[in-house]
Amino acid sequence: MLTIPDSVTSIGWSAFGGCWDLKTVCYGGANQSAILIGGGNSALENARWFYHKHDDKTATETRNAAAPTCKSEGYSGDVYYAPCGVLKQAGEKLPVDPNAHAFGAWTLTAAPTIYAEGVETQTCAICGAKNTRSIIPKLPMAKVAIHDFTPSSKTYAYRSSITFAATVENPTPNGQIHWFVDGEDVHTGEVYTAENVRHSFFLQAKYFDDGKEIPQAATEIEKVNVNTGFFARLIAFFRGLFGLLPKEAQAYLGLDRVFS
Ligand SMILES: [Zn+2]
Ligand SMILES: [Zn+2]
Repeated sequence: MLTIPDSVTSIGWSAFGGCWDLKTVCYGGANQSAILIGGGNSALENARWFYHKHDDKTATETRNAAAPTCKSEGYSGDVYYAPCGVLKQAGEKLPVDPNAHAFGAWTLTAAPTIYAEGVETQTCAICGAKNTRSIIPKLPMAKVAIHDFTPSSKTYAYRSSITFAATVENPTPNGQIHWFVDGEDVHTGEVYTAENVRHSFFLQAKYFDDGKEIPQAATEIEKVNVNTGFFARLIAFFRGLFGLLPKEAQAYLGLDRVFS
C-alpha cells in the first residue's frame, strides 16, 4: 500500500523498481495523469490506483470487532478506509465485562406449591452463571369440607352408625383425607362411617399430601352429639334385642315401627 499526497507531481526513474508487493496506491490527485511517473516503475503503474485522500472525511469500515463477554476479552476492531481497504487504525483489546453474560431462556426449575412460588432459572451459556425469579404464583391452598353435617344442631341415636363424607377444594396431586376422632387418626378416605356410636366425640377431617399434613386445609373440630341418656340406651338395647328376631316377628309385634 502506498499513499501519495496530491502535492507530489512526479515520481523519479525506477523509484519503485522491483516493488512487486505494491498492490494499492491512494493518490490525492484527481487522476494518474496529474503525476509524472518516470521509467522503471512498472510495479507502481500496475498497482490498483484510488484517487482520494486519507483524511477524516474518507469513509471507513470496521472489521474484526468483538464485544467482550463475561469470560473473554473483546476487540474494538480494525478501522479501514472503505474505498481502498487500507488500514487506518488497528483496534485494541477490550477488557472482560463481568456483566456481559449470554443468558438463555427461562426454564422452570421448581414447580409452585401451596407454600412457595414456582422458580424459573436462566443460565449463561458462557460461564454458567444463573439468574432466578419467582413469578409463578403459589398453588391455591387445599381446603377440606365435611358435607351435610350439622353437628351442633343434631344428636345421633345411641349405637347408631353415622357416615360422614368430605371433599377437598384445590386438591394436591398426592393428597388424602384423614379422619380424626377425639384426636386420633382413625380412617383415610373421602367417606368415614362411625359404627355403633356409644358416646359423643370430636371429629375433624385433615388433609395430608405425600403423607405430610397440610394444617391449613383441615376442617374445624366438630362435636358429634350422641344421645347417651338412659332411655336412648334402653331403646338401643331393645332394638338390638329385637334385631335378633325375624323381621316377620318384629312386624307382627309392631316393633319395627317403635324402634326403627
Ligand atoms: Zn485509500
Ligand atoms: Zn456469563
